[in-house]
Amino acid sequence: MTPDTFAATVLDWYDRHGRKDLPWQRDRTPYRVWVSEVMLQQTQVATVIPYFERFMARFPTVIALADAELDAVLHLWSGLGYYARARNLHKAARVVRDVYAGTFPSDFEAVQALPGIGRSTAGAILALACAQRQPILDGNVKRVLARFHAVDGWPGEAAVLARLWDCAERYTPQRRVADYTQAMMDLGATVCTRARPGCAQCPLRVACQAYRADAVARYPAPRPRRDLPVRATHMLLLRNARGDVLLQQRPPQGIWGGLWSFPEVAASAEGPAEVGMWCVQTLGLTATRLEAWPALRHTFSHFHLDITPWLVELGENRAQAVLEGQPTVWYNTRTENVRGLAAPVQRLLERLQQQDSTL
Ligand code: SF4
Repeated sequence: MTPDTFAATVLDWYDRHGRKDLPWQRDRTPYRVWVSEVMLQQTQVATVIPYFERFMARFPTVIALADAELDAVLHLWSGLGYYARARNLHKAARVVRDVYAGTFPSDFEAVQALPGIGRSTAGAILALACAQRQPILDGNVKRVLARFHAVDGWPGEAAVLARLWDCAERYTPQRRVADYTQAMMDLGATVCTRARPGCAQCPLRVACQAYRADAVARYPAPRPRRDLPVRATHMLLLRNARGDVLLQQRPPQGIWGGLWSFPEVAASAEGPAEVGMWCVQTLGLTATRLEAWPALRHTFSHFHLDITPWLVELGENRAQAVLEGQPTVWYNTRTENVRGLAAPVQRLLERLQQQDSTL
């Protein structure tokens, strides 16, 4: 199939089946497309829509985002995961405000140099919002092209990736580039899906090499398996006499950077005696009740974290808890809802509320 035929086939399919009423397709500015692309990087469209609407209501312009506190941005991101995306979005908004006087750049190199924007996202922003002929290669497009050309190997390998970029570059048309870009993303998301692709409805099937070889499931090859290491920690849900729970902000770098979490005790602390001792020695507070909760596992891309939570009732009210390093706050779970919380923290607070409501 020639590149022209490929693009025409995809565009024809888009005219009949593509998505044309997504919130970021209305008033298609680089800012709105950028936010949507970043949200969509690891998350499905249906999940992203309400997050996107709330984000735009709160930060309607790149300046509004740049002027906001990081905490407010992380709060609106709570639940989407991969918080580095939100931190980079905020950082990049400040670059646009301070370096580009609040106007999103339209030069590819400048866009790609912004924090958190890789080659594919830069291409998508410029193709969708500025009609520039720029190829994209997000996860959906990788899958379509890997199958269409029966490209062997995991797309995380440089040589495989280079080959897919080559295909993406070749097929991207001069005209209707925004529609084509949306079409390729839609085709991957709705027809050439990871599991059970709808080849019977696919406009590319006549020339698709994986389909013709009856080997669709072989492409793209999965990431080579490696066992993730396991780390362990104890999280302390310290509750004062008012029922408020102590949270501490994580350092900006590292896991859950900038989010709020529970104080942690080294995994070597094995029993209530050590946890109680930690309260006395670190906080100068005595625990009146200690309760170990069932452990939970949180998996990051490069390790599993096994968390043993402890509910620690403290008999006192203390306005400030003195913990080294990062800021702390006594968090009222009934009235507060304005902080970016690490995902397991959110789960544990919900568990605490459930437990309280059954008492
Ligand atoms: S024919 Fe099947 S495998 Fe090939 S591009 Fe279409 S949906 Fe994907």
